[in-house]
Formats: sequence, C-alpha cells, structure tokens
Amino acid sequence: MLQMCRTLSLAAMCLMLPVTALSKSIALDIRPGEGVTDQRKLSDYFAPLKDTNLDTDVFILDSGRPGVTALLLGGTHGNELAGTVSALVVLENVVVKAGKLVVIPFANHSAISMKDTRNHIAQRHRIQSRSGERYLVYGDRRTDPDDQQAEDPEVYKNPMGYELKNGAESRNLNRTYPGKPDGTPTERASYAIIALVRQEQVDISLDMHEADTPENKIQTDGDYRPGGNKRLAYTLVSHPRGLEIAAYALLGLEEDINISLKLEESNTKYRGLSHLEIGNATDSLSFLSESPNPGQDRWRGDGDVVTDPRYPLKHRVGLHLRLFKQLADAYADDSGEAFVIEGLPEYEALMTGDIGQFLN
Ligand SMILES: [Zn+2]
Repeated sequence: MLQMCRTLSLAAMCLMLPVTALSKSIALDIRPGEGVTDQRKLSDYFAPLKDTNLDTDVFILDSGRPGVTALLLGGTHGNELAGTVSALVVLENVVVKAGKLVVIPFANHSAISMKDTRNHIAQRHRIQSRSGERYLVYGDRRTDPDDQQAEDPEVYKNPMGYELKNGAESRNLNRTYPGKPDGTPTERASYAIIALVRQEQVDISLDMHEADTPENKIQTDGDYRPGGNKRLAYTLVSHPRGLEIAAYALLGLEEDINISLKLEESNTKYRGLSHLEIGNATDSLSFLSESPNPGQDRWRGDGDVVTDPRYPLKHRVGLHLRLFKQLADAYADDSGEAFVIEGLPEYEALMTGDIGQFLN
C-alpha cells in the first residue's frame, strides 16, 4: 500500500480512501466446474505478490492418479481473448481422469483489469451462456502502469539482459521471464509462474496468445493496404527441447480439425519469452500458440472479437484447445505417462452454435 502512494497527491488519497477504491478492479467471471479440485493464488508460489493487482487465480484439476502434469496459461496478454476464454472452457468443462491440469486463466491480472489501449476494444462482451447472460472481459496487452509502480524506462533490459527499445515492454509479461524475485511487479509475476512450474512439477506448458489476423493491412498515407505482420497467427512456437512433440502434435491437429499450423522454434537469442525461458529454467517443455484476433488488427479499429464471421472466438478457442490436447497426448505417448481428460469440447461441437454453450 505504501508503495502505491508514490506521489504526494496519491498519498493524500491513500489516507482518505479504502484500499479497494484505489484498485481498478473488474469482475472476472469464472465459474469452475466439477473437475476443479483446488483453487489457489499465484502468490501461494511467491508470497510478495499477495495483495497486489498482479496476484491471480490458479486452478488445479487433479485426477489423483499418476500421469502428465500440464499447465495452461491464458491472459498473458489481456487483449488476447481466445487465451482467457480457452482457459475458462477447460475450467468449466474438463474432468481429469489421469494426470493433473493447472490452469491460470488471467496470467497478467493487472493487464486484464485495464481497458485495451491499442484499439480501444470494449472491456465487457455480453454472451449467452448455459445459465443465461454473461460477460467476457477484454483487457490490455501490458501491466497497468499504476501497478508497475515505476515509470517505463527508455530502454528495457530484461532479467536475461536482453534489451528492448520500447520501454513499455517492461510491463509485458511475455518479455520478463524467468522473472526476478526483487524485480518489478511484472518481473515478479513471471518469477511466480516459474516457481509454480517447479513446485507443481509441470511436464508441459502451453501459453495461449492471439495476434493480428492474416488479413492484416498496413497504413500508407492515411489509408490501409494489404500487408503488415501476417507472420504470427496460426503458429505454434516450441522450446528447442519440445520440437519433436510439437511436430507430432501438429500432425495430430491436422487430422483432428483439418487446420495446419506453422511450427517455429524459439529464437534462443530473443530472451524473456515464456516458450524459451520456462523450458530453460525448468524441466518443463514449453510451447506458445497464436490464433488470429480481429481485435488486434489496427486497420479494423473495432474488430469483432467474439462473432467475426471469419475468425469467430469459437474457432480460435477450438484451435488452442485441440492443439493443447494434441500436445499433451504427444507428450504422454513419448513419455509413457498417462493423460486422460473428459469434457474437452471437440472442434466441430464448438463450431456448432456459440461459445456460450461451453460456459456455465
Ligand atoms: Zn500475446
């Protein structure tokens, strides 16, 4: 609390207002199903996160039987809706029969609590769930500057010594791995996730992301023409140790949902990203998936992040979840350990109707 009161005016407010009045809290609607066996906080793995806006919910789905332990991360970037909703669909539908699942739906809790600063996409999106009206939350890419408790540096040198020219990237959870116990709040959050991977003995992790759609355009003289960064969507990035598993998973995915993803190996010179650093710092195999989000296309301005006809949310969620299943199955085949889950929606079932039919 004292750290939050950096300036004189804020300090005065701190004296007058209760703590809750200072935090920008948004109701994160999570309705765990019968498969969730334990609910924790990220601060249970690294106590200094407690009572900060970087602390976040961690859910355990434990079969009680030996097998593969898998970690699913949603919301590393708060503006990448398919990652958070994929995690919610798992929490609200899946029962693990062999092995264990650890799910963090909102990895950067601060980012999800802030409005999107890129395209100013609305923060709440109404859907019809199995039990009626419900809202999905869309946030920002990075940690809220108020929660970071420091000005952005001109150049950000991350814990691995890699320099990023845009100082705002110091608030990007996917640039701060493997984190630092005495670092910035964002560095502490990635440090806590690494601590969780170690403590839960995670075998395999998938960090679910979204990127510009392949229809991206670039701005020229005040107008837009086709071009821009089409590289990322429909990609699986793999730690060098995970390449074989990744290749098997992508073959399985083609058979499962008839969609081909690109396979990219982590660039070992570009430090600080989850798919490289989780695998480097722990025994876990780490992967990162990218789906196409119309909300991230600058040329669209206000892309439809739920019901876009070409890139609907249900398609993007299906992509992440079926890929996750293929990765875990490939790991199980390779290691000889068991991984059995029930209730994960098939891609075709997701594409029939709306995403809400898989949310409580
Ligand atoms: Zn991302």
